[in-house]
Amino acid sequence: MAYIEPAPIKDKHNPFESMMVRFNDAAKILNLDDETYEVLKRPHKVVIVSLPVTMDNGKIQVFEGYRVIHSNILGPAKGGIRYDLGVHLDEVKALAAWMTWKCAVVDIPYGGAKGGVICDPRSMSAGELERLTRAYTSSLVDVFGPDQDIPAPDMGTGQREMAWLMDEYSKAQGRTVNAVVTGKPLVLGGSLGRVEATGRGVMVSTLAAMEKMKINPAKATCAVQGFGNVGSNTAILLEDRGLKICGISDHTGAYWNADGIDLEKAVAYKNANKGVLQGFTGGDLITNDQLLEMEVDVLIPAAKEDVITPENAGNIKAKLIVEGANGPTAAAADKILFENKVAVVPDILANAGGVTVSYFEWVQNRIGYKWPLDRINRRTDRAMKDAFETVYQTAVNYKISLRLAAYVVAIRKVAETYKFRGGY
Ligand code: NAD
Repeated sequence: MAYIEPAPIKDKHNPFESMMVRFNDAAKILNLDDETYEVLKRPHKVVIVSLPVTMDNGKIQVFEGYRVIHSNILGPAKGGIRYDLGVHLDEVKALAAWMTWKCAVVDIPYGGAKGGVICDPRSMSAGELERLTRAYTSSLVDVFGPDQDIPAPDMGTGQREMAWLMDEYSKAQGRTVNAVVTGKPLVLGGSLGRVEATGRGVMVSTLAAMEKMKINPAKATCAVQGFGNVGSNTAILLEDRGLKICGISDHTGAYWNADGIDLEKAVAYKNANKGVLQGFTGGDLITNDQLLEMEVDVLIPAAKEDVITPENAGNIKAKLIVEGANGPTAAAADKILFENKVAVVPDILANAGGVTVSYFEWVQNRIGYKWPLDRINRRTDRAMKDAFETVYQTAVNYKISLRLAAYVVAIRKVAETYKFRGGY
């Protein structure tokens, strides 16, 4: 019997602390009273589950899983599930809180949650992943629910895992409950546009920021870190709007081509190469660290947390950073970027297109109807543009960064709702 221990947080930039630094700054600007501060700062519910799974070799391996509901003040909690060896409770707590703020920024009636399992999905067979996903769902069957807590994909999970989750939850209820999870395959009640939704939102917020900064997309260059769901879709959609994508990357390395990466080739290569870019010849091989410091107009970190730190923030040459990933900038790097006049569209705004279409998926499931793609895209674009404008005006009014402005918008909304609802 084997057990995978949670990895200690080795880096200096604990994502929960990074989230709290911004939360504290915004709370000060809002003059948040102590009581509301205490309510909003801690997660509503933290569940730790132990998941014994029979591996293909016949041995049982015990995995540790988490589900954190940060808040259900605005509505049922919403947030993805991450499969990764680096999953850590503090990381899940930070990601759950970011979901609360994100839903508030885009004005969606959801609270925030996040889940994770410490595992290496790339080294597991489909059968092992299915058993793990069913065990996780079964352990959390009382936590999940269309009116309680609605999971979705995150790093290491996708439509396939969401289908297993829906099936396992539905079996426990004795009926099909497709609104319990979003990011499902289309045939199970998934929404058109969900796969590209996060990338689409990143594209819309990038263009909105470029317009304010008077950067012409047709003359702009861009580098994207991460070539998964968010990174690849963002790159394709931005190229479509005229930007030249000079750099892309995944966990195996980064590729640079000053004439522009052929994205069609990169996607085809990745699909034919077990989902990784390793060996891609459409650009010079550089490191992920180098990619972040390349001479581009727009930098899109779309892989993981804490890649922009006080150590490299001063070397970033991009004028605009748009955070496709959650928490890619450590709080300690914010000041350096702000002083260097690097504009940052923060994660809780930039990548909110995903949860927006997840919300549309849930609405469609609940009314038993399917919306066409043009309606989904139109509504997503409008939600993202409106959210960007609200955050931008707040930043101008208070003379603060877009990140702090997004926290101000979000915390103000959740705090106001809490006051109306009240406590015990
Ligand atoms: P994914 O698993 O589809 O892709 C992740 C990509 O990042 C892969 O290309 C992987 O190789 C790369 N990567 C991993 N570690 C890396 C490293 N150290 N350096 C460079 N690249 C690395 O995941 P995703 O769904 O695209 O999520 C990416 C980020 O976006 C995460 O922070 C996630 O929380 C966030 N996000 C995702 C969604 C969504 O709808 N999928 C929504 C909002 C936010």
